[in-house]
Amino acid sequence: MSSSRRSFLRDLTDAVRDVAAAAQTPAETPAAPPSRDPLADASLERYSRQLVMPEWSEAAQRALARASVIVVGAGALGSPVAMYLAGAGVGRLGIVDADEVELSNLHRQLLHFTPDLGVPKAHSAAAKLGFLNPEVVVEPYQVRLEAANAPGLIQGADLLVDCSDSFETRYVVNAACCVARIPLVEAGVLGMSGLVMGIRPGEGACYRCAFPEPPPDAPSCATAGVLGPAAGVIGSLQALEALKLLTGVGEPLVGAFLQADLALLSFLRVSVERRPDCPDCSGA
Ligand SMILES: [Zn+2]
Repeated sequence: MSSSRRSFLRDLTDAVRDVAAAAQTPAETPAAPPSRDPLADASLERYSRQLVMPEWSEAAQRALARASVIVVGAGALGSPVAMYLAGAGVGRLGIVDADEVELSNLHRQLLHFTPDLGVPKAHSAAAKLGFLNPEVVVEPYQVRLEAANAPGLIQGADLLVDCSDSFETRYVVNAACCVARIPLVEAGVLGMSGLVMGIRPGEGACYRCAFPEPPPDAPSCATAGVLGPAAGVIGSLQALEALKLLTGVGEPLVGAFLQADLALLSFLRVSVERRPDCPDCSGA
């Protein structure tokens, strides 16, 4: 191993340890996003390749810098989502994950490396994201998002990206976002297929409108497996939709979901109507 590689790993290990040592239980009220100027000279080059896009604008970049986003799950989907959002310049990222890094995670969860085994994923992720873009305020929450703590965790957020791997969590996140009227990007991936759905409470169908009940005997990644790049594709689509919702650039996938069969590389966009009797969004 080269000395620069050893030095990098040492810095990384120190950073993970420092962040883990500073681990706190989640604050009920998240901190405000930073006020630094994303268009200051030092930041211009960092964001230059998106700023130069005709669809993008200084207003879009400033909107991102003001934005506060919660990523639920720092695993296969959460890794690309958090990396792309941090890279793009989202002001504040809250990373919610109760689990620790395991060997079986590493083929698809790109924020975690072999030296991170046993480290809480929220803190491992926060350390890498800090290296990727120190301008972003990253807050790790080593906790499982549940109905009781959801309102406190999502308070003040402009957007949630649900990268969890359980239907139970998806319904909790959906209900909490509908009550708080916070836009949400949902997704799931299994094997070589996946699904992405954008939700703007009160404007289009929510996750429960589309899927009123969880499927019976739904397989898990542990039993059915998942291919790393398949999770990468679905997570990248989630990040893309998140950037659209935060900036107004492009046409977000709202009131519809995208079903992806990556074995055949076939994508199907399905429109969904709101259900007037939906227990989650009928009051939104
Ligand atoms: Zn609904």
